[in-house]
Amino acid sequence: MSDQGTAFFPPKDIADKFRNDPETLKLASTDYGHIVHEIPATVFRPTSANDIATLVKFVYNNSLPIKIAARGHAHSVRGQAMSRNGVVINMTALNDPDHLRKAGSRISVSRSPSLGFYADVGGDQLWIDVLQTTLTYGLAPVSWTDYLYLTVGGTLSNAGISGQTFRFGPQISNVHEMDVITGKGDFVTCSAKVNSELYYAVLGGLGQFGIIIRARIALEPAPERVKWLRILYTNFSQFSKDQERLISANNGGRLTTSHKNYGFDYVEGSLLLNQGPPDLSFYPKPDQPRISSLVTKYGIVFCLEVAKYYDDHTPAITVDKELEILLKGLGFVPGFKFVKDVAVVDFLNRVASEEKALRSKGLWDIPHPWLNIFVPKSRILEFESAVFEHMILKENISAGLVLIYPTNRNKWNDKMSAVIPSEDVFYVVSMLRSSGYNNWEEFDTQNKLILKLCVHMGIKFKLYLSHYETQEDWRNHFGLKWATFQYRKAQFDPKHILAPGQRIFN
Ligand code: FAD
Repeated sequence: MSDQGTAFFPPKDIADKFRNDPETLKLASTDYGHIVHEIPATVFRPTSANDIATLVKFVYNNSLPIKIAARGHAHSVRGQAMSRNGVVINMTALNDPDHLRKAGSRISVSRSPSLGFYADVGGDQLWIDVLQTTLTYGLAPVSWTDYLYLTVGGTLSNAGISGQTFRFGPQISNVHEMDVITGKGDFVTCSAKVNSELYYAVLGGLGQFGIIIRARIALEPAPERVKWLRILYTNFSQFSKDQERLISANNGGRLTTSHKNYGFDYVEGSLLLNQGPPDLSFYPKPDQPRISSLVTKYGIVFCLEVAKYYDDHTPAITVDKELEILLKGLGFVPGFKFVKDVAVVDFLNRVASEEKALRSKGLWDIPHPWLNIFVPKSRILEFESAVFEHMILKENISAGLVLIYPTNRNKWNDKMSAVIPSEDVFYVVSMLRSSGYNNWEEFDTQNKLILKLCVHMGIKFKLYLSHYETQEDWRNHFGLKWATFQYRKAQFDPKHILAPGQRIFN
């Protein structure tokens, strides 16, 4: 069942946990990207961490030429959770109701004097379930992704970023401890103090060093409600200046039970483009025609999105006063400020309604030639001019949903595997493009052109959720971290068994 056709007779105690039927194999050979298709030889459905350790140890000890990919929710876009002719571990099998009845919940909330509140969460768990469980204790993690139907193991293998990152760091900065099964099949508990090399390797490590079985996630008292605002700009320089101001105010604060006086809790941004009718569902119906007119007139409108958390018992007048102070001096187009007041779960789970709308139009399960790029603050104006003004506006390349927001480097730990630009502030630019099955390559070529342009302009960007064709490209991506990345691979997965879909060591 390997590339070389090696026979694979797994140990007896896990032998009945493999599925080879065409439907299961087909499912494991696709992901959200719908671009890469790699058919595995078999899919493994573990019911315990021990099953996973047995499998990896067996492959390692026997030096089998078999690669193993943990598959979370398969929301990668480039086959990162696939294993051609190898084994795909369906991590969500650990969440099987029969198994849970025996083993108990895979999300548990506790408190310790040194850590405060935390949740021990299975690497297979979806963030939406982490949110819903922790909210029953009045608690929640502080750092999120925009979309919550992703597994904890999947986002911690990348970084896990959103509009809270400027303040709380990415999700990888909010993990106290993990249980990991390494590429040798060893079950290891690691933290910044114990087995720290493995801990830092795994966080942002693209699945290369071990399979995350459990992560201990920091929790804080959850806010109850959210003032969710969008303010519109027609001038990018003013827009980015205001974003940078908002992420620098109170950089370093943590939520308190009153959720007061720490600036905004979330800062993002996106583009409204004159490329077909823009999605205006956030805005009140009566305002939509004048927003549309603004978009038609300028071609691009920049939407700064912020959120302020508060508690039910906070008087409305206090919250409104705070918002007024926070918005003072911002240069958005007068009259183009829109506020919603929603429950925290509706805010954090906001993309679920977009998913529903896209699914209903048949626009969810289609190719996603995405481009996610971190751009240093010092070059963002030139990037905007070259890519937004020139390629999107003048050449009219189809951009999809474009997110753009700055974040603070000091919230990332350089010992972790994740790579980011070297400037103190850098922008997340996500061009979340979707295409037809026949023309994703055209989109891909445009993405490559954008990157080529950045190289030509000397912009020292880093890709996020990156995929490369050659090891040379990976070496460039990791830069100074490459030697450490290689050293850690030799230490924790010396036979290059894990996460072949990232195409780093194979
Ligand atoms: P998978 O695609 O299943 O796996 C990703 C990689 O992690 C693979 O290499 C896999 O082998 C490895 N892996 C999976 N589970 C484990 C584990 N337990 N232990 C070790 N390795 C493991 N990202 C953000 O940061 N912010 C966002 O706001 C955001 N929004 C998104 C919205 C959508 C609609 C989509 C499709 C993706 C989004 N992402 C975002 C990207 C997402 O975080 C990554 O693609 C993530 O890897 C997806 O998680 P998953 O569970 O689907 O992982």
